[in-house]
Amino acid sequence: MLKKVLIANRGEIACRIIRTCHRLGVATVAVYSDADRDALHVSLAGEAVHIGPSPAAESYLRGDIIIDAALETGADAIHPGYGFLSENPDFAEAVASAGLRFMGPSPVAIRAMGLKDAAKALMEKAGVPIVPGYHGNRQEPDFLLAEAERIGFPVLIKARAGGGGKGMRRVENAAGFADALASAQREALAAFGDAACLIEKYITHPRHIEIQVFGDDHGNVVHLFERDCSAQRRHQKVIEEAPAPGMPDEMRRAMGGAAVKAAQAIGYSGAGTIEFIADASEGLKADRFWFMEMNTRLQVEHPVTEAITGVDLVEWQLRVASGEPLPLKQNELSINGWSFEARLYAEDAERGFLPATGTLAHLDLPKQFARVDSGVRTGDRISPFYDPMIAKIITHGPDRISALARLSLALAEVRAAGVTTNATFLRRLTNQSDFAEGRPDTGLIDRHLAELTMVHAAPSEVVGLAAILLSGALEPTSSHDPWRNLPGFRLWSEASDFVALEHRGRHLAISLGAKGEGAYSVAIDGTGLDLRASHFDGAYLVESAGRKHRLGAVRAGREVTIFGNGENWHFALVDPLAGEDEAVGVGDRIVAPMPGLVKLLSATPGAVVAKGETLAVMEAMKMELILSAPRDGSIAEVLVSQGEQVLEGAVLLVLEPAPGTENG
Ligand code: ADP
Ligand code: ADP
Ligand code: MG
Repeated sequence: MLKKVLIANRGEIACRIIRTCHRLGVATVAVYSDADRDALHVSLAGEAVHIGPSPAAESYLRGDIIIDAALETGADAIHPGYGFLSENPDFAEAVASAGLRFMGPSPVAIRAMGLKDAAKALMEKAGVPIVPGYHGNRQEPDFLLAEAERIGFPVLIKARAGGGGKGMRRVENAAGFADALASAQREALAAFGDAACLIEKYITHPRHIEIQVFGDDHGNVVHLFERDCSAQRRHQKVIEEAPAPGMPDEMRRAMGGAAVKAAQAIGYSGAGTIEFIADASEGLKADRFWFMEMNTRLQVEHPVTEAITGVDLVEWQLRVASGEPLPLKQNELSINGWSFEARLYAEDAERGFLPATGTLAHLDLPKQFARVDSGVRTGDRISPFYDPMIAKIITHGPDRISALARLSLALAEVRAAGVTTNATFLRRLTNQSDFAEGRPDTGLIDRHLAELTMVHAAPSEVVGLAAILLSGALEPTSSHDPWRNLPGFRLWSEASDFVALEHRGRHLAISLGAKGEGAYSVAIDGTGLDLRASHFDGAYLVESAGRKHRLGAVRAGREVTIFGNGENWHFALVDPLAGEDEAVGVGDRIVAPMPGLVKLLSATPGAVVAKGETLAVMEAMKMELILSAPRDGSIAEVLVSQGEQVLEGAVLLVLEPAPGTENG
């Protein structure tokens, strides 16, 4: 067995790899950037080496520095995790040249699957069904348009070097083709340094079904069944499950066989995933699936496979990298029950899934219902530098209904404050009828986006509890019941207080009256109700109009987040001193709505701009956002420069009325 492994990654995946290493008695070395000095993966590892500044290009992508760190600490292997250097054949080669074991396939196998066009050509030769399309070298727009017409619309344009859904455009007809191709090529060049694209038939009623494969250095290859990752947004996975709902045995055998054949064709060793797209317009059929791409690494969603097979895939990676044969043969593997994984992200689903950053003032994850793979804890910062994933929540049950019920329950128990998360969106998805009944497809989330991201108004008992908690009258005292001995309230007598709260950009005026122990009269913007509240087992029980509500609350300074029924609501005390510098109208400042990179800055000081004109383009992890002029005017100040990384809320530009106009 290997003795010491360096993990060239961060976050949840680094933590997850470290845990299995330690269970098997393998020592670990973590690496970290400036932003990650106090990160969880650093605390868990046996040793940790600082590798550079926060931007990934200067730390987690610096293969040379990482290899030096492995040599200096006496590690005998490097585990690349996913993302970063995991699918970089030059890095895999450099690791081997340094006399270390790269915990993944050979550089030759990574290269063979690195470009989607070459991979498809290879798979076609190996007899694996591929998505119909054009994957040759020619890139002239007219030629590709003719190919698209031959394939038949709709088509999907894909960057051959693509990943993470980038450089991908669905095109409905010939008229939209040229523009879509140009923009896909531009995005591909910027993201991957390679503009080349391929054209694929857009599969109707598509389901993303992938097969986990595993090979060793002795020529053995097995598959560990399928995962269904059809619940996607912008071609990115949201909730994954295993097995795939409605999967006929015949199709499972055909897909497993095709995946093993694909892996054998490139002499595959280690963990890998073959992604297929299936046409589910008439249910799943054994002759309606096609190879899309291979990911030559451990996949984000590997835990659902672990849950249904009982295999620890990282343990297998360690054994294979130690030269051992695969622990199990194909006929020794079977499916036990059902499993789901939800990706909990720091993002604001109600505001177009903008990545969120900030300090996790509180993080409580539902460990009693689920396996939780996380790389952060209370007090950690979600920084703009890396993937804003907070945790993966994985459940298992004897069947799909019970595993999904557990997931829904677990998501309702997520308590995160300080950073907006997608927990509510995920929970609603688990309850969406097509998803709940086992009919996912890659368009499901988009079709139901409105109901999945709808803003639910805070019920009055929630507003009331927020006011009670923020009024300051209810500070917990030395008594173990925080509802006793409330200093600001003279209990059993008349007492009242006035609280001004901010909620979703609105001000709420609330008056509170104490009516006895745990009883309050609350008037919200003039509408009154009576509340009784008590504290039980870490939650608040609030009674209003003959109903009890179990609510969670996390208070941080002048703010509180209330949780209940899978939803959450955030309130802040209105600062009486604020508002002074609001003299400049809101429309006068162009503010970064998310942390990220100022990719393009088209505004110059003094320039006259028209309402709607693009002033700047920002880019954050996997998304681009255009900031346009809120009204006619001229640019008074430019406070950032192109290429600069900014925080959420940073003022980028200041507008003023254009010269010669009275009012802006
Ligand atoms: P998977 O199918 O396993 O989700 P993806 O290709 O979508 O594979 O991404 C795998 C992981 O790689 C992501 O979760 C993320 O951490 C990382 N990743 C993907 N795209 C990027 C990117 N553009 N920049 C940095 N990391 C990325
Ligand atoms: P990436 O490298 O970004 O993961 P993929 O080729 O795996 O790119 O495609 C990402 C997603 O896009 C798939 O999971 C699927 O939902 C969708 N997709 C890809 N190819 C097709 C296709 N030919 N027809 C319909 N949807 C597709
Ligand atoms: Mg993919």
